[in-house]
Amino acid sequence: MSARKAATPLCDQFGLDAGWREAQLSLIGLNDHSREHTRLLHDRVLTAEVITWIVDRFYEQLLRHQQAAQILSSFDVDHLKHKQVAYFREFGVRFGEAGYFESRARVGVAHARVGVPLSLYLESFGMMQCLILEALMKQVQDAGERELLTRLVLRLTTLDIALATEVYHRARLEDMDRSLKHLQLEQKLLRRQVERDALTGVSSRTSLLHELRGAIARAAKTGQPLSLVMVDLDHFKEVNDRHGHLVGDKVLREVASRIKAALREFDMVGRYGGEEFVVLLEDTSPHTALQIAERIRTRIASEPIHVAGLDLDLTISQGLARYQDGDDSRSLLERADAAMYRAKQAGRNCVVEA
Ligand code: GH3
Ligand code: MG
Ligand code: MG
Repeated sequence: MSARKAATPLCDQFGLDAGWREAQLSLIGLNDHSREHTRLLHDRVLTAEVITWIVDRFYEQLLRHQQAAQILSSFDVDHLKHKQVAYFREFGVRFGEAGYFESRARVGVAHARVGVPLSLYLESFGMMQCLILEALMKQVQDAGERELLTRLVLRLTTLDIALATEVYHRARLEDMDRSLKHLQLEQKLLRRQVERDALTGVSSRTSLLHELRGAIARAAKTGQPLSLVMVDLDHFKEVNDRHGHLVGDKVLREVASRIKAALREFDMVGRYGGEEFVVLLEDTSPHTALQIAERIRTRIASEPIHVAGLDLDLTISQGLARYQDGDDSRSLLERADAAMYRAKQAGRNCVVEA
């Protein structure tokens, strides 16, 4: 009853407007006469007693069906029976009205959301149809009335089935659409997680190595110069040991941001390891590459890093390697790394070319 009263938006939501409803009714052959016949159906057949009989039989049959029984096991069957009784009391009453469609639509959505397979759902409609007809044969003796009411029952159940199936599909589609959007969002977040280093926000190691392979392929193809800088913080362990890991983390963030600030828009920086960064300088002459490495070094060494009320003087050592014919990402990284170690040996806070 409440479903009929409330102007719920299900039909609107699924685009089942007045035009669609009219078309259904006329296709099925429900008209003004059917209204009269519906009254007769309720007077003669769908009495309270018969409805109870139908509903009991319906659930008896349903519970013999393995899949149905399994689904029903998580519901309060008495409550469902109660709803089913209401459903039969409303059966065909004011079938032309939006509220009738609305209440039927809700039934379809409820079944879709619970995950009842469509085949089982339609079978249940078939079972209900048979039970109503069985009751009709018992209750109505007059051949003319029987025929009239049989036709009406077939039409009303057809309307219910059409509506329920339509809504069932639309609800499933809507659910899938929602899941898809959710997945897309998740995928976007995951991709970001893979591409970005969570602590510093620069490229992750995975993404860096991917870019490096691309840059090497381009350099090999076009002959344009490519340089790689290995950046390692000097005595960084001491920062952690003296001030704690959290301070160390903040320093790493600040260093990453200073490196970025020293780069051009198309240069790339990634976190290669704990306190090691790699800078890719594509289409960049060796001279410019060295200048950029120096710029990074100065940005970090020239101004203390302010963290947690501290002013920390930090320096970096850098190894600079140029792409040579036959290089792959590994050989290029190894040369830059070796150069960086020489920078450490040379007293740190400097750039050494491979
Ligand atoms: P060197 O000048 O020879 O490079 O000395 P170092 O102390 O920087 O080098 P070492 O390799 O001995 O230590 C690196 C330190 O970096 C050790 C480790 O605790 C720290 N570290 C690595 N990853 C992180 C991180 O994500 N956060 C913090 N806070 N510390 C890190
Ligand atoms: Mg290191
Ligand atoms: Mg270090």
